[in-house]
Amino acid sequence: MTALPEELFNRDGAIYMGAQRDPAGCQVGLFGVPYDGTTSFRPGTRFGPAAIRQVSDGLETYDPQLDADLEDIAFADLGAVEISFGAPEPVVEAVRQATNAVLDLGLKPLMLGGEHSISSGAVAAVAERYPDLVLLQLDAHADLRESWLGGRHSHACAMRRCLEVLPSGELLQLAIRSGTKQEFQELQREQRLVGMQQLATRLQAIQGRPLYLTVDLDWFDPSVMPGTGTPEPGGYLWADFAELTALLQGQNLVAADVVKSLFHSFTAHQIEDKVLLPSSDPVARLKAISDLLSTPTTLRN
Ligand code: MN
Ligand code: MN
Repeated sequence: MTALPEELFNRDGAIYMGAQRDPAGCQVGLFGVPYDGTTSFRPGTRFGPAAIRQVSDGLETYDPQLDADLEDIAFADLGAVEISFGAPEPVVEAVRQATNAVLDLGLKPLMLGGEHSISSGAVAAVAERYPDLVLLQLDAHADLRESWLGGRHSHACAMRRCLEVLPSGELLQLAIRSGTKQEFQELQREQRLVGMQQLATRLQAIQGRPLYLTVDLDWFDPSVMPGTGTPEPGGYLWADFAELTALLQGQNLVAADVVKSLFHSFTAHQIEDKVLLPSSDPVARLKAISDLLSTPTTLRN
C-alpha cells in the first residue's frame, strides 16, 4: 500500500458520517469532485459532495433492508479532488489520477459529484485495472451525444466518453427516458437499454464480472429527488433503487459514483415571505409553494 499523494486531494472539509480520514484498513475510498463547469440547466452540483456529507450526519447507520451497519464497514473519506474550475478536460484528468491513487491504496473508489462529465476519468482508471469492466448507468438521459454546446466533455456526452475508455464496450443503461432519436436508436441497436423488468436477467448475465455503477440522480423521479441539475418527470422511486441494491449484493461491484446532487435550500426568510405571509387562502398558498419550488437554487451558506 502506498501513501495518498497529498497534491491530488484537498482534505480540509467535513467527512461523511462514520468515515475515517486514514485509509489504513479500509475497503472503500470515498472522495468528492466539486465540479459543475459544463452545467446546461440548474447549476450548483459543485456543492453536492459537501451537502451530502452535511446531511449524512442525520442518517441512521443501520440499513434494515440489507441488515448491514455502516459502522461495521471501514471506509475512508479522502476529501475533495483538487480541480481547477473551468474547462472539463483537466478535471477529467485529475479525476483519473485521483481514482488511480485510490486504487493504489487497495480501496474501491466511491466518487461523489459534481456533474456527470467527471465519470469518464474514474471509469478510465478503473478500466485500466479491470479490462473486463462492465458499466451500469442509472440516468434519466442517454448521455450519448458526441458533443454538446461546443464541448466533447459536456455532461450530455458522459457515456459517449466513458465508452471510449471502456475496453469491453459493455454499457448497461437502466430505464433511460430522455434523449434524441439517434440516441434511442443506438440504445436499441446496441441492446444497451435495460428495463426494470429485465434488470435481474441482465445482471445475471454479467455475474462475477467487475462492475462500475454510475448513478446520475436525475434517474429518480423529481418528487423524491428534486435537488438535481436536470430533473425529468416519470422517474423512479426509492423502492426501485432498493430492488437494484438487493440485486447488486450478488455482483462484483468494484467502483461507483453518484453525480448531479445539487445543494438546494430554502431559507426561513423565503418560506416566511412566500408561503406563510401571502394569504391564508389554500389556493394562494399552494401557488406560493409551487413558486417557491421553481425558484432557482439558493446558496446562503
Ligand atoms: Mn441525467
Ligand atoms: Mn447523466
